[in-house]
Order: sequence, then structure tokens, then C-alpha cells
Amino acid sequence: MNEFDIIAHYFTQKTPARSDVVLGIGDDCALLDIPAGKTLAVSTDTLVSGIHFFGDVPAHSLGHKALAVNLSDLAAMGAQPAWVLMGLTLPEPNQAWLHDFSRGFAVLANKLHVCLVGGDLTKGPLSITCTVFGLVDKHQALMRSGAKQGDKIYVTGTLGDAALALQLKKTESKAIPEALLNKLYMPTPRIQAGLKLAELANSAIDISDGFLADLGHILQASAVGAQVQAHHLPLSDAMHANADVTMARRYALNGGDDYELCFTISPEKESLLSEVSKIVPLTCVGTIIEKRCLQVCDEHGKMDYEGYGYTHF
Ligand code: ADP
Ligand code: MG
Repeated sequence: MNEFDIIAHYFTQKTPARSDVVLGIGDDCALLDIPAGKTLAVSTDTLVSGIHFFGDVPAHSLGHKALAVNLSDLAAMGAQPAWVLMGLTLPEPNQAWLHDFSRGFAVLANKLHVCLVGGDLTKGPLSITCTVFGLVDKHQALMRSGAKQGDKIYVTGTLGDAALALQLKKTESKAIPEALLNKLYMPTPRIQAGLKLAELANSAIDISDGFLADLGHILQASAVGAQVQAHHLPLSDAMHANADVTMARRYALNGGDDYELCFTISPEKESLLSEVSKIVPLTCVGTIIEKRCLQVCDEHGKMDYEGYGYTHF
């Protein structure tokens, strides 16, 4: 199979047609119509073999995840996904792998009505770069810089599961619970929640490097601080079953690859979150404070951590 056969066979017309795609895969550029009154939200992320994933990851979950981690950035801005470009570097054209990979990608793309409009294909060590394009109403995008003193800090879903799954993979021979592996291999970009939050929240970020690290980006961009209650962190049943409380909180605070949203909202608007919590569970985990520092307390009021520019626990 040459390059053009691969593109034609695995990537052309596998994702939804959209009326705003004037020209998709096949020419030197794609041509896309941006509706009046909308701003384009653009983001790119690369997954590199041996760094972001290991050789034993099922190809279909890699296809899913390559798109999901990018869509998670759109979710954090409150943008509606529209189009995607894919740069794919392959050591060799393995047809079974390409079949599964492109399926995993297409299933998620179809779910969220994202059209693959072009890309690039090269030979080399396996790596996948997606660039996603989303649409957001003018001046409505959710940014990291809008957190205000008194805001409540919320997260979606549960935290730490992907990091625990990775740790179990490294250290244990026994089977890893499905619920944990799912969070690592098949993260769900919180698109619908992000769209609703665009009208409600003051700031947001998606959690990819670990909750504290990513909350730190909100604090930095907004020039504020935060108090976090470690005992309020949302932990899954699988987490409780596989880690003691201390370790569970560490995974939740510092583990990466969650792809949940962290957002801040003024207390007057908190009651409006019931709409969002129909889509995904929400948990209040802290408060924005004026003092520019990040404090983490436990149920006894004991300070676990106090600092700023957080990197490692
Ligand atoms: P060019 O040489 O002009 O950059 P290519 O020959 O690399 O174009 O690609 C031919 C067409 O196939 C282009 O429309 C390009 O966007 C598309 N394409 C290439 N790789 C991919 C891919 N991995 N996924 C989707 N479309 C792709
Ligand atoms: Mg060209």
C-alpha cells in the first residue's frame, strides 16, 4: 500500500460529512467555512510511542485517544468541535493496525460530528499529531484567566484513575480493572459539559498533567490562589478498591491523563450547575482565594501542601 492508498482506504469519508466543509481530503488544502458570529478555537497535541503510550496499547484506543485528548482542549474552551487534521508517522503500513486505529478515530469523530479534513502521512517512529478546530460564539470562549476570588472550584468525573491504571501496569501482573483501563485508554472529552459551562463558568482548563498542576495554570493566569479540600476529591470505586486513601488522593491530585474539566464558577451561579451535572458528575473541591498560593487541606484541616508554581508533590 502506498501513501495514497492508505489515505483513500482508511481515512477518506470515514468521518461525518459537514456542510461547512467546502473541500475535504484530497487537495493541497481543505476549504472550510466559518459561520458568521463564531470564533475559531484551534489546538494541537502529539502522542509519541514510548512516551505517551506503549507498544501494547490497542490500536483502536490509540485512534480514539489521539482525537480525544485534542477534543478535551476544545471542551475546556467551551467550543463545539468541527474539523480535525491528522499527522501520522508510521514505521510501516500494517493494515490490521491501520484498520483498528482508523476505526477508533472514526467512532469518536462520528459521535461528536467532527470531520477529518486532511493531514499528513510519513514514515518513521510511530507518532500521531491531531489538530482540532472548534467553533465558539464570539467573546464566549472559556479561558484560564477568568477565575475570581470567592469562585468555587469544580471538577468533572473522577480523578486519578488513569494514573493508577498506568502504575498498576508498571508494577502488577494481575489483571487491571476494566474501569481503570478505560479511563487510561478511552478518555471521554467533556464536550457537552464544556458547551454548557461556557455560559456559566468564569474559567476552565482540562486536566491532562494532573489536577494540581492544571489548577495552577488557572491560578497563574488569573493572578489568584486556591484552597483545595483533598477529602472532597472525587474518587472512583475502582480507585477505592485498589489504593489506600493517602495514595488515592495523591493520584487524584497529581496523576496525569484524566481529561476531566476543572472550572471555577461564582457562588451565585452554582445552582445552575444542575443542568451540567445531568451530563457528567460534578464535585466542588475548593475555593479561589485572593492570596496567590495553593493550599491543600485534609478533613482534619491539616495542611497537606502549600505552595505555588506547583510541579511535583
Ligand atoms: P501534499 O503533498 O500536497 O501536502 P499529501 O500528498 O501529503 O498532500 O496528501 C494528499 C491529501 O491527503 C491531502 O488532502 C492531505 O490533507 C490528505 N492526507 C494526508 N495524510 C492524511 C491523513 N493522515 N489523514 C487524513 N488526510 C490525509
Ligand atoms: Mg500540496
